[in-house]
Amino acid sequence: MGEFDLIERHFMRPGRTAARTSLVALGIGDDCALLQPRPGTQIAVSTDMLVEGRHFLPDVDPAALGHKALAVNLSDLAACGARPLAFTLALALPHADNVWLAGFAQGLFALADSHGCELVGGDTTRGPLNICITVFGEVPLQVGREGAKTQALLRSGARPGDDLYVSGNLGDARLALDALLGGRTLPADVMALARRRLERPTPRVALGQALLGIATSAIDVSDGLLGDLGHVLKASQAGAEVHLDNAIITIANYAYLTRANGPNGHSYPKAALYALALAGGDDYELAFTAPPARRAAVDEAARASQTPVARIGRITAEPGLVLKDALGQTIANTFKSFDHFQPGAAP
Ligand code: ADP
Ligand code: MG
Repeated sequence: MGEFDLIERHFMRPGRTAARTSLVALGIGDDCALLQPRPGTQIAVSTDMLVEGRHFLPDVDPAALGHKALAVNLSDLAACGARPLAFTLALALPHADNVWLAGFAQGLFALADSHGCELVGGDTTRGPLNICITVFGEVPLQVGREGAKTQALLRSGARPGDDLYVSGNLGDARLALDALLGGRTLPADVMALARRRLERPTPRVALGQALLGIATSAIDVSDGLLGDLGHVLKASQAGAEVHLDNAIITIANYAYLTRANGPNGHSYPKAALYALALAGGDDYELAFTAPPARRAAVDEAARASQTPVARIGRITAEPGLVLKDALGQTIANTFKSFDHFQPGAAP
């Protein structure tokens, strides 16, 4: 199978590209795809690369990998409040395995179609397995007397006094990864829930759009809550107080982990639960801020997008991150978020 047969067989869907949504003026097949932004909008662009052995295990289900490769990109659009339009796919493959490619394409397109996001181009080459997706989304512009101003949710908009929120579940993806790598056995139902979070994360696209005009800042949690929150604080020149016990109860497997019949017959120590929720990584949830006066609007955005949201702290004028336990005691921040180039990170 040649390169073009491979693209045609697995990635071109003539019925759909011919349909040409109003936003995709031209899809796969020419030197460039053409996108048609609507008047009063901006195009949001983001790229994420997934490398075998680094971002996924070699034996991962190809359909789950197709899902995750796009999900991590859609998560970046969600964090800006953008509506997905289209994406490109650059693929390096060690060999053309039709069964593998069919599974990968199935997982990829199932998620793409559920968000109305069209594959409009890419590149295909032989090499160590590597998947690079670029997504394009649409965010509204607000046109006023001083000109056009973006409505996108940015990292720089958090203000002292704002509430701090996080969507969905934190820590479960890391729980599954530790179990897979460390050989720890979790009960089947606990592992199934955790593994689904690791392999098939849910990008919070509807929530991101629902928060336009409500949230003052947002980021998606990919490297661990505290590390990613640090990016918001730096960009916003502010600090935050985080209530750790409000954050850990977002762990979907919390009930199991706190029972005495947990892993190895022990319940998880509090410190381990904090580490899972605060520095686990691979969560693809949204952390965002909004003024206390908008609490009802945040609740409504959560309800409308059918996404659970927890209030876990607030933004402060003093820089730095203060962590409090349920008794109001300050906990030292020793939680390290994931950094590929940090000394000591796996080679
Ligand atoms: P070029 O020579 O300009 O790099 P190619 O011959 O590589 O173009 O690709 C031909 C067409 O197929 C282009 O429209 C390109 O965007 C598309 N394409 C190539 N690889 C992929 C892929 N993995 N997924 C989707 N479209 C692809
Ligand atoms: Mg090419």
